[in-house]
This record gives sequence, C-alpha cells and structure tokens, in this order.
Amino acid sequence: MTGFVFNEKPIQIESGDGPYLYDDSGTEYLDMGASYACVPLGHSHEAVDEAVRDQLDDLTYVQASYPNAARTELYEKLAATAPDPIDKTWLCNSGTEANEAALKFARSATGNSKLIATMQGFHGRTMGALATTWKNKYKKMYEPLIGDVEFVPYDDPEELAAAVDDETAGVIVEPVQGEGGINPASTEFLETAREATADVGAALIFDEVQTGMGRTGSLWACEQAGVVPDMITSAKGLGNGFPVGATLCRDWIAENYGSHASTFSGGPVVSAAANATVSTIVEEDLPGHAAEMGDYILTELESAIGDDVREIRGEGLMIGVEVGRGANKALKELALNHGVLALPAGRTVVRLLPPLTIEQEQADAVVAALTDVLAEDDDA
Ligand SMILES: *Cc1c(COP(=O)(O)O)cnc(C)c1O
Repeated sequence: MTGFVFNEKPIQIESGDGPYLYDDSGTEYLDMGASYACVPLGHSHEAVDEAVRDQLDDLTYVQASYPNAARTELYEKLAATAPDPIDKTWLCNSGTEANEAALKFARSATGNSKLIATMQGFHGRTMGALATTWKNKYKKMYEPLIGDVEFVPYDDPEELAAAVDDETAGVIVEPVQGEGGINPASTEFLETAREATADVGAALIFDEVQTGMGRTGSLWACEQAGVVPDMITSAKGLGNGFPVGATLCRDWIAENYGSHASTFSGGPVVSAAANATVSTIVEEDLPGHAAEMGDYILTELESAIGDDVREIRGEGLMIGVEVGRGANKALKELALNHGVLALPAGRTVVRLLPPLTIEQEQADAVVAALTDVLAEDDDA
C-alpha cells in the first residue's frame, strides 16, 4: 500500500522546505506531486505552521456546537472566495467525506436518489463516494456499494444531458479529472451539466478536491468555465497538509442538509491552517502564478518531448504526460536518477501537481529530467 519507489528503497523522509523534501541521508527531492496536491504552498510553510502553533497555544479542540474564532473565520473566508451565490460551508476532514456529504445533501435537498457520475472519475473511497468512483479495481471487493449511480462518458455533453431526468438527485463531476489521467472538461460540458441539472432541480456537484485552491489557474477551477454549481467540494490543498475538507453550497442545499454531522468538523487547529493557506494563496495571487508556470511548463515540455510522447495536457499546475509504456518505470527513473518525485494518473500518465509556489528554475529542472527519461522512449 506504500509508495512504488520507496518500497524498494528503504529511506525515510525527514524534513521539507518549499518544493523540496529531504531524506535521512540528506538527499534532496523535488516534490513535483506536492504530496498529492496537499501542500500548495510547499512544505513547512511558515505562515501556516505559525498559525497552527498560535492556535495550539490557545486551544487545541472544542466541540463543533461551540463557536470558535478560527472556525468562524474559515466559514467566512470560504464564503468570500467561493463563486456567488455559494456561501454556506460544511467542514470535514478529507476529500471523500466532503463528497460523501455532497451526495447526501443532493439526496436530502431533492428527495431523489439517482446520482450521475463520470467514467474515469475519482471521488474517494468511503462507501458512498466510492460508488461514484469509476475504477472497478477500487470497488469490486467491497460491493454492494450504495445503489442508483449511473456513469456517463466524461466530457460528452449529449450523453450527460440525456441521463439527467426528474428522478436525478445530483451530478458529480471533476472540472479536470485528476486520478483518471488529467482530463480537462470542455466549458460546453460543464455548461450542459449546469443547464440539465437546473432544468430538473437536481444538484450539480463539482469535486474540486484536486483542482481547487488555485491549482488550475483560478482559486476554483469552475471559475475558468464561468459555471457555478450547487456544491463545490474541497480538501487536499485546503490546509496545506493539515486534514481539512469542505462542502461549499448554495442556500437551497444548506436549508435541506438533513442531519449530517461529524465530531471533528472544523476543529480550531485545522481551521487555523486552512485560514492561513487560503489567505496566502489569495494574497500572493498563486492562482495567477500557477497559470503562468503551468503554461511555461507545458510549452517547454511540448518543445522538448512533444514528439516523443503521446500527449501532454493540463490546466495550470495540473499537468499530465501520456507515455506509451507504463508510467511507473518513468516515475521510478525520475525519482532515483533525478531526485524528482512525480505521480501516476492511471497506468500511462505521469502527473505533475507541483506546489503553486514553484519557480522557473525548478520548472526547468523538471523539464530536463522528464526529457532525459522520456525522450525517444522506445515504445512511446
Ligand atoms: C483525492 C481525491 C478525493 C479523495 O480525497 P481523500 O482526502 O483522499 O479522501 C476525491 N476527489 C478527488 C478529485 C480527489 O483527487
């Protein structure tokens, strides 16, 4: 269950600084996956760590029914940064929980049960979210999962529109599929999802667990398409490494959320981490920086290895390189020969999700490493 590279290389990661990780022998690694997109500000970010230390001095935990300044600030911050009219938030501890809540809210707010998800989609591994996740490999041995889930091809507006009817509770979609191979949706697909759900009163859920927090070039990826869903789910980068998730929603959802709850919802320490993370991302315009660096890396990769690989695609700092042979061999070479840690996205895609703070020098190092590993790949 552990990492594919470090299964074979018995090292311990001991410290981190910005985009770099260091093992117990002092070897430096460039963390081009931002540890599964969880550290958009890089490792051991001072503003986040200081906010957490300050919060620990005051209060570690208080039950969610007692108001607390850190949690209240996070509700306000998320409402202020979410596209209008989304201004209500339910807090949790992970991406799958954020989606689990969204699926429950879609059912409670509509009174319907049918859920629509997309092929190659990934929404988490608890029973409900897993039922909307595409890959059988993740599901088979745990079945039966929750029922009434229908899958439609990703980025096919017609098939989606045909599937949505007056029995539909909700549609869940990633604006850019992450785990499924870095597949950006067309604006038309997201617009169709909006129109089709609005027509029948179903809830549109954008799973922004991976795309959110500035990664694609705007704070929320849906802003780039100009489509406002009924719910946005967030986690991964939200606390820059601290476990916090959120289900942001419109009033009609919040008014009919049923009786969902979680004991640890929005604890003071993770809220403090999320407040510092969101503030830093907004104040330093890291979404703008992500757009710029993403374009730079895509252009450089295209000219260096565009002819040697099947496809290079992405949005902002969410980049996939489709290689002919399995991605794992390339990832292993990147790590062991170049000290570059990247991620797979399915069997054939090398996925880059660097910290949003990455500088040109580090981008150049990654392009050079990928060029060395992938150029004139035998079976590309
Ligand atoms: C990672 C991911 C999840 C699951 O998040 P966890 O925190 O691992 O539960 C859900 N949706 C998307 C799009 C993800 O990338």
